[in-house]
Amino acid sequence: MSFDLLVKNASLPDGQTGIDIACKDGRIAAVEAEIAADAAQVIDANGQLVSPPFVDSHFHMDATLSLGLPRMNESGTLLEGIALWGELKEILTVEAVVERALRYCDLAVSQGLLAIRSHVDVCDDRLTGVKALLEVREKVKDYIDLQLVAFPQDGLYRSPNAEKNLLKALDMGVDVVGGIPHFERTMEDGAKSVRRLCEIAAERGLMVDLHCDESDDPLSRHIETLAFETQRLGLQGRTAGSHLTSMHSMDNYYVSKLLPLIAEAGVQAIANPLINITLQGRHDTYPKRRGQTRVPEMRSYGINVSFGHDCVMDPWYSQGSGDMLEVASMGFHVAQMTSRD
Ligand SMILES: [Zn+2]
Repeated sequence: MSFDLLVKNASLPDGQTGIDIACKDGRIAAVEAEIAADAAQVIDANGQLVSPPFVDSHFHMDATLSLGLPRMNESGTLLEGIALWGELKEILTVEAVVERALRYCDLAVSQGLLAIRSHVDVCDDRLTGVKALLEVREKVKDYIDLQLVAFPQDGLYRSPNAEKNLLKALDMGVDVVGGIPHFERTMEDGAKSVRRLCEIAAERGLMVDLHCDESDDPLSRHIETLAFETQRLGLQGRTAGSHLTSMHSMDNYYVSKLLPLIAEAGVQAIANPLINITLQGRHDTYPKRRGQTRVPEMRSYGINVSFGHDCVMDPWYSQGSGDMLEVASMGFHVAQMTSRD
């Protein structure tokens, strides 16, 4: 038997070492110790990790690699980042967004990323980011599965044309319904936005992924509303709460009620360790809260939790490189998930 490609002496994510991986006709044909066969190409992995491609479940490709445009985020807060992005949005062009996004896709794919869910800001009447990322989604489809979320960055109700623009973006082919309830003017408007966004998704048969409770406010409760609306509208398994950082600061008794509700509704959770550790706790002196949501606790309830990179060299985060292992490393440190399990 002759293969097209043979990767020798690999370590696998489950801990197996000294494994060979043989590929034929673009598919993995065998994974076992010491495959004795010819191959057109042989790669010695030298005991290094060989893993399935990575998935980045939360990213902002319309803002990536824009660091310093038009200025830096001095306070390091989420709110200054949003204000700064607002300044940059005014001067964005489709060509510039496409160019930066493609440059990021090269960086990402070179580090093993195959699938990226990117939010795209719809609070821009020109829909510059939407036009650009729809073009990018098409351009990279042979090597990256790019999924787009219509994201009303300045608030579905707080920003005058947000709902109209969001619906237009979905009509243009954006895949998922996004939102930002904690940025609406009141807790009530936030809850109303969660309801409306879930209804839009239910009407159109789409998924929902909301920036949800991305604050240190222990009383932010939009994840509760998201779980409720998911259940009411039969969206189980199709909704996700991104960030959920307020859960870090919530009262423990309330969390013991909340987690079973999230599990029952089948809402997925997406933490963004690099960003959550950087942006949260900025209004604290000492001790400073970490801000990352309760990852092991959610997992113990069977809630599906994933990690996203969120930002790379943009108004919110001056670092990053598309390396999901860096994301994972920060995630398990902050969540204290350093045991063998
Ligand atoms: Zn985000």
